[in-house]
Amino acid sequence: MNNETTTDLLVVGAGIIGLAHAALAVERGLSVRVIERDHRAVGASIRNFGHCCITAQSGELLRLAQVSRRNWLRISELAGLHAAPTGAVVLAHSDAELAVLKELSASREPGQVVLLDAAETRAKLGPAGAQAPWPGLIGGAFLRDDLRVDPRTTVGRLADWVDSRPQAIVHWNTPASGFTSVPDGVRVTTPRGDFTASQVVVCVGHDLDHLFPEEAAEHRIQRCSLNMALGRMSEGFRLSPAVLTATSMLRYPAFVETEAAAELRDQVTTTAPELLEVGANIMFTQRPDGTVILGDSHHYHRTAPPFLDESVSETLLEHLENTIGERPRILERWQGVYASSEVAPLFVQEVLPDVTAVSVTSGVGMTLSFGVAERTIDSLFT
Ligand SMILES: Cc1cc2nc3c(=O)[nH]c(=O)nc-3n(C[C@H](O)[C@H](O)[C@H](O)COP(=O)(O)OP(=O)(O)OC[C@H]3O[C@@H](n4cnc5c(N)ncnc54)[C@H](O)[C@@H]3O)c2cc1C
Repeated sequence: MNNETTTDLLVVGAGIIGLAHAALAVERGLSVRVIERDHRAVGASIRNFGHCCITAQSGELLRLAQVSRRNWLRISELAGLHAAPTGAVVLAHSDAELAVLKELSASREPGQVVLLDAAETRAKLGPAGAQAPWPGLIGGAFLRDDLRVDPRTTVGRLADWVDSRPQAIVHWNTPASGFTSVPDGVRVTTPRGDFTASQVVVCVGHDLDHLFPEEAAEHRIQRCSLNMALGRMSEGFRLSPAVLTATSMLRYPAFVETEAAAELRDQVTTTAPELLEVGANIMFTQRPDGTVILGDSHHYHRTAPPFLDESVSETLLEHLENTIGERPRILERWQGVYASSEVAPLFVQEVLPDVTAVSVTSGVGMTLSFGVAERTIDSLFT
């Protein structure tokens, strides 16, 4: 394929949302071009926990998440991605936490949210359940359908796989700067020349305001910045599922929608107000190399200041240590940024004729990616 070829689809942005669209389009035999601003993707898709938080979604998002799960597992096989159906474990340290889990479990099909006592919770964690003290643990729940993926390797491998298909190409260091309707579709302007496609899908995450400022403002899209860290636990610490805690139950919709969540919020407000002040979601996942991704806090801005407040990181680390009973040795810190909106959890809009912008505005783009992508590709090409 050369630069003059008009493709069926042109995707702007090689994060997980753009590449999920590209991969599903390629699978259907469509010709696809992906253009990415950077020399390699360094956006939200490599900075996250790699937790596909399927079970704790609700309504339409739960349906999209389940479609996404199916696609994740299939495409991972094809493209050599790491995607493990490990489920997730929610730790409980109080009756208020158990009440939320109990209510959610009762509302789901049997086996989807399994209530656990303390010993069962440790067992579900994998070897780490016996290796660390887990102080104050009284029980928990196993979220069967969650996946653990590897954020550091996923988008690079997926881009390579898309690029290796005969009818697809990925162009790096190629920012899109303009879109013009032409007789056979849309012409996309870049400093490396123009490309034409029948349909364009713009997946630039939180940078939607750089290309479509009015639409981003109307949807009140902001940048959510998060303090994150990579740590190593003691020798041999092996954790199977993603691990969530009380503050996770105050964030993800299926927990928040329970009646019991109000009492849990009151409890955290009294016992650990510092967590609410930094918008904490104390959770962690282990990467295939044994390092542990630790986080996180949430702060909202139109433009995110680049500085990491050490006191926020320290608050998170202290609570992580109290949860595991062991202090991780910190190897790296970074700031994650994702698109956020109070208006709706997703932004999917035809912003110009044959140009659709897609941004997950609720911090669960890894989870929803392949579900949202399937829906977009269905709507544009069937
Ligand atoms: C710290 C953190 C933890 C998270 N944890 C989870 C989690 O555990 N589970 C989960 O489901 N979600 C999680 N998320 C959310 C998830 O990472 C995001 O929703 C998702 O990665 C967004 O993907 P994206 O492709 O839209 O954005 P990005 O990954 O940011 O990709 C957008 C791409 O577009 C490119 N781009 C921008 N402008 C242009 C242009 N003009 N031309 C060409 N290219 C352009 C950028 O360079 C970038 O590569 C987390 C996010 C963060 C930050």
